[in-house]
Amino acid sequence: MAAEVSNTQIIFNNYIRKYAKEADMILKTSTMKLKVPEDCSDAVLVKNLYLSCDPYMRNRMNKIGAANDYVTSFTPAEPIIGIGVAKVVDSSNHNFKKDELIWGMTGWEEYSLIKSTQSLFKIEHTDVPLSYYTGILGMPGLAAYVGFYEISCPRKGETVFISAACGAVGQLVGQFAKLLGCYVVGSAGTKYKVDLLRSKFGFDDAFNYKDESNLNAALKRYFPEGIDIYLDNVGGEMLDAAILNMKLNGRISLCGMISQYNQQHREGVRNMFNVVAKQIRMQGFVVFLYYSLYPKFLDFMLPLIRQGKIEYVEDIADGLESAPAALIGIFSGRNVGKQVVRVAHE
Ligand code: NAP
Repeated sequence: MAAEVSNTQIIFNNYIRKYAKEADMILKTSTMKLKVPEDCSDAVLVKNLYLSCDPYMRNRMNKIGAANDYVTSFTPAEPIIGIGVAKVVDSSNHNFKKDELIWGMTGWEEYSLIKSTQSLFKIEHTDVPLSYYTGILGMPGLAAYVGFYEISCPRKGETVFISAACGAVGQLVGQFAKLLGCYVVGSAGTKYKVDLLRSKFGFDDAFNYKDESNLNAALKRYFPEGIDIYLDNVGGEMLDAAILNMKLNGRISLCGMISQYNQQHREGVRNMFNVVAKQIRMQGFVVFLYYSLYPKFLDFMLPLIRQGKIEYVEDIADGLESAPAALIGIFSGRNVGKQVVRVAHE
């Protein structure tokens, strides 16, 4: 007889249109048998250890079809789904065995039955903290790698601007650009984060966008000759100001637009003619479509971590019950570094 355990879950309440709030997620406790059901072939039952709070999750709170089609919506009354690190408790899939560690899509709950295992990665390197597989060694790390090396076509000596620079993606892109010998400036929303960008992550400079009444003037101050590469994490006003400050043949990599995710009506950009006049290349990307690069990315990233050539800051909230506040916090910049939730100790 399989043991039956209590399973605390974070349930998605219902679709929303404006700002996400903690009350959109409800704590519930049910029970679960620690065995993959007989009728589930190719499934794994996991104990969740770490959960990742990612900005795209806000888009999954919209009803299907609401400018939302790169991700599916959450299902009301079901657990929130997100990326996590977990340990296999039982498996009917020959690729995953009991006690192995994985990262990938799981539920916001203590134990999850994962029926779709295609996007699960086995964790083979455990000399680094397991939480890293939600960030620097997981989806945001790969997004930083793809956004910089694959999309931005960077060259030594170029000028690089990064918004939301102290977040999971931004802190890494800035360091990749420094490793290549670029001049790098980041924007962030507090003095503490601006100091971290300069002192810990080695950016050449940084500024607090909330202190600037004119973003165009701020960018002109930091890039008097213009920007070669802009890695956009925020969209909105900052994107508009960056477009005005790009150099001829500049590249804008559209990674994300966190300033717009809680808006019912998203802002437009007004300075698009500059894209024509300066022959700028703007390209968006969705990291899930680059998962085939993950092994190459690991070969690149693991040595940098082991040799201490890259800094990484994460913000770990303790306990599943802290997950709703942690997720909501990233939309007001409460997190310093990658926001993770520790569900259980390893
Ligand atoms: P993160 O670590 O969760 O950090 C998000 C940060 O964004 C916050 O800490 C906050 O910092 C800033 N922010 C929040 N609301 C803002 C607003 N209204 N205006 C300006 N800044 C705001 O984020 P991340 O994981 O690095 O993700 C960064 C971006 O990349 C997001 O847009 C995300 O959707 C995108 N992304 C895209 C892909 C892809 O496949 N294309 C993959 C991963 C992530 P401040 O204190 O600086 O305001």
